[in-house]
Amino acid sequence: MRLIMLGAPGAGKGTHALLLSKEYNIPQISTGDILRSHIKNETDLGKEAKNYMDKGLLVPDELVVEIVKSRIQEDDCKEGFILDGFPRTIPQAQALDKALEELGIGLDNVVNIDVSDEVIIKRMAGRRVCPKCGASYHVEHKKPIKDDICDECESELILREDDKEETVRKRLQVYEEQTKPLIDYYEKRGILLTIEGTGSVEEIGKKIKDALEVSK
Ligand SMILES: [Zn+2]
Repeated sequence: MRLIMLGAPGAGKGTHALLLSKEYNIPQISTGDILRSHIKNETDLGKEAKNYMDKGLLVPDELVVEIVKSRIQEDDCKEGFILDGFPRTIPQAQALDKALEELGIGLDNVVNIDVSDEVIIKRMAGRRVCPKCGASYHVEHKKPIKDDICDECESELILREDDKEETVRKRLQVYEEQTKPLIDYYEKRGILLTIEGTGSVEEIGKKIKDALEVSK
């Protein structure tokens, strides 16, 4: 099964990509992770990517696609893979299509986890992390025993800059402009599954699985 996960930041696509990866025994591929591992292992692609990053530039789409292309040819991707966080733009999706065509493979489904901006903002604003040990909490769903105090090390919990409403709104706006057009792009191809992303992780996970089974 070859899948792409789509969804706004905070919609839960990473969580569900991981669950699906376990369920179907196929790797979850995050471009950030593979890019970092190429750089760490000093591969040719990694060195090239690092050149751009050292100059403060974005790694060009062609290079990211090359890295994805090399990753999905590895043995563990024979039965499929889940792309998480890529593609993010129409040009990336087109470059990915071209790469898959060259490999003679196609995508089975694109799972779009749909959550309203207001729900995402509320969800993120409730997150708290421990600056000392990294433990994470949520003011509604995973409360610490003592308000704002870490259960593990008793440090005072913080709201990360990334989770603040203003930052989240900016990221949602970038998503709206750059990534949302992909929903149309894959819808037209008839491979988009839109799942309403409200409810518990288990409930959403079940909806995704059911939709994937039906579309087989
Ligand atoms: Zn702590």
